[in-house]
Amino acid sequence: MAINEIHKKVVILGSGPAGLTAAIYASRAQLDPLVIDGPQPGGQLTITTDVENYPGFKSGIMGPILMDEFREQALRFGTEIINVWIDSVDLKQRPFTLNGKESQDSDEITTVIKADTLIISTGASAKWLGIPGEDPVPEGLGGNGVSACATCDGFFFRGKPITVVGGGDTAMEEALFLTKFASNVTVIHRRDDFRASKIMADRVKNHEKIDIKWNTEVEAIHGTKETGVESITLYNNKTKQAEEFPTQGVFVAIGHKPNTDLFKGVLDMDEVGYLITEGKTMKTNVEGVFACGDAQDAYYRQAVTAAGTGCMAAIDAERFLAEHESDVEIQTAKNW
Ligand code: NDP
Repeated sequence: MAINEIHKKVVILGSGPAGLTAAIYASRAQLDPLVIDGPQPGGQLTITTDVENYPGFKSGIMGPILMDEFREQALRFGTEIINVWIDSVDLKQRPFTLNGKESQDSDEITTVIKADTLIISTGASAKWLGIPGEDPVPEGLGGNGVSACATCDGFFFRGKPITVVGGGDTAMEEALFLTKFASNVTVIHRRDDFRASKIMADRVKNHEKIDIKWNTEVEAIHGTKETGVESITLYNNKTKQAEEFPTQGVFVAIGHKPNTDLFKGVLDMDEVGYLITEGKTMKTNVEGVFACGDAQDAYYRQAVTAAGTGCMAAIDAERFLAEHESDVEIQTAKNW
């Protein structure tokens, strides 16, 4: 099969809020960007329902619709979007090379992309329990009572009993945040000691609206499309007893994994895999490569902050091209 060869000034890997915002900015600066969809085009918002905290939508907007709007806006200014699985990258020399296959399972490289600058917006994936009922709608109750983001979805559980799964700082933070809305929060942890920092763990242990189930694993989530979550099956790994536990929301907080495996050994990252950017910029340790969104942010992880860093990465890429490519016509800042 003939190899499809593409050369672009700006290549953006990932099409969540960060990647598509970078594309909107880069295309308006006439840099003719190429966006490469990841395995989840549109990113994590495509598996949520209502988004009520994205500014500009006073009545809220469905996550998938919001991402369609981002995509249309990027396309309107000339962004090209393709869907290939990037198998390997060579960032040793510019233009950088990205080798693409039709899918993760294919053997053959079918697309070779040359990039004068690369913006990495591959996002992060919430870790899931891998139990029945957890899959995103329509297969399961994910996005309909099962969530991995209290900030995004807590509001929908006003006055309801909910559970948080996990024992790290994220689980503590989620549980504490959710007490604002829920009638009661039950934290379910597989061991008899939290991994979280003592201060956070103590806050949870001492909170009047929070109960804790130790040595307990969630085995299944039950409910229907109409009712949302109704109960979960719990298993106590000390007593070996199972129980049906009524709840109306399940927040899985067992950690996130940035989607940065492709760049291991090439780009600087922390021990979890979050890409490290320089100071207030989106520059990575390789000149001409920028990172934005959840791939480099372990802390805020919001659509609006991801979009903000996508804008910053595009501006960084534009300035890099202006400094390195005298033949590239660059718009001035007033045109952003
Ligand atoms: P962590 O990896 O710290 O904790 C994950 C928790 O989930 C652990 O308690 C772990 O259990 C549990 N877990 C993992 N897999 C499973 C599973 N399959 N089934 C059941 N339970 C599971 O992740 P966090 O997201 O909590 O934190 C990540 C980093 O971010 C940490 O360094 C944390 O300190 C930091 N952070 C800091 C915050 C702050 O300072 N405000 C807020 C949020 C995060 P076990 O303990 O048994 O391994």
